[in-house]
Amino acid sequence: MNVHGQPSPTPPPAPPPRSGGLYVHVPFCVRKCAYCAFFSRPLPSCPAAAAPDPDPVAAWFRGIVREADGAPAGFMPATVFVGGGTPTALPDAAFAHLLDFISSRWGGAGLVEWTVEANPGTLSPEKLRRMRAAGVTRLSLGAQSFSPGTLAALGRIHTPGQVRDAVAMVRDAGIPEVSLDLMYGWHSPAAAAPHAALDAVRADADAALALAPDHLSAYCLEIEPGTPLDALRAAGRRVAAPPSLQRRAYDLLRARLAATGYRHYELSNFALPGRECRHNLLYWTGGAYIGLGPAAHSHWDGERRGNTPTLPTWTVEFRETLPPRLKACETLVMGLRRTDGWTRDAFRDATGFDYLDLRGAEIARLAAEGLLLSTPGSIRLAPSAYFVSDTVFAELV
Ligand code: SF4
Repeated sequence: MNVHGQPSPTPPPAPPPRSGGLYVHVPFCVRKCAYCAFFSRPLPSCPAAAAPDPDPVAAWFRGIVREADGAPAGFMPATVFVGGGTPTALPDAAFAHLLDFISSRWGGAGLVEWTVEANPGTLSPEKLRRMRAAGVTRLSLGAQSFSPGTLAALGRIHTPGQVRDAVAMVRDAGIPEVSLDLMYGWHSPAAAAPHAALDAVRADADAALALAPDHLSAYCLEIEPGTPLDALRAAGRRVAAPPSLQRRAYDLLRARLAATGYRHYELSNFALPGRECRHNLLYWTGGAYIGLGPAAHSHWDGERRGNTPTLPTWTVEFRETLPPRLKACETLVMGLRRTDGWTRDAFRDATGFDYLDLRGAEIARLAAEGLLLSTPGSIRLAPSAYFVSDTVFAELV
């Protein structure tokens, strides 16, 4: 009873506890970029498409709903990431269906971050309005470069002007955060000399910074097997800059972004304070997530699962539960991608192991070689090892 002698109202039910993340893979693009090995197909509306299904987008969406129905009971993610592919390449109606579906199942209070990846050439005020209404908080735009020649060589569909327009549209739509992807390490015949190549990277960084993004990702061009760039390389064409120049480009970007207030928080990622990508931080700290769609991966309850990269339907390609020590080593390496690395306590909390028990000898050796910075209570990569992190990680898994 309350002070008025009336029964106290029943308190509203507590919102379901949220944890982990949701990834949704949208496997369609307008067309394939020259370097891309992600699983995606040209949209059926594109003349390059050869889709056996009359409506592959509808078939894919039915698959997403089916897979979502099989998600663990009570799954309520704290973060959502819709990637691909190019989610914003979906036709308006299909894109709206996807947003509504995610919002109705997993939106609302407690969802701390919802990212959608977008190609600047596929954004529209209408798509952004839909995203804002659904609760999207963050747009990740694949800018890659601000040089028309580089964008053409990479096979991108957009122009530098469309990147600028896209950022302005995101801001106008009231979506709180915008991230830009940049690519470096390509070879340009027009800027083959090292100083010209570095000038081009500097120009890209400055053009990106002029747009004041909340977050920047900078990826080195990798020539993936089976891509058009791989074919060019096999034919004797130079497509990537030499590794020494790629490293200088990376160092240039790091210095440029740091000088402008962006914290280098992961090997390829930079953010204004508080604007780190929470969803990706889950991946780097051994967190749990469910992936929906072809080629999507999940990590839930200690089990890893991967889907087949197939359309119009997909199945589970593998399911595995790593032995705890192996899983902990994997978490160690993933966490070292963050420039803060691990504290010993945080690693123990995350995995139940002490990293010195797991890999004490290797850590001591790598620290002696100057590749790791180790204190009694913490461990992190030395900045000089960022660009060669794979060789360090190979010692620790
Ligand atoms: S837009 Fe992205 S996912 Fe699509 S082909 Fe280009 S790089 Fe690959």
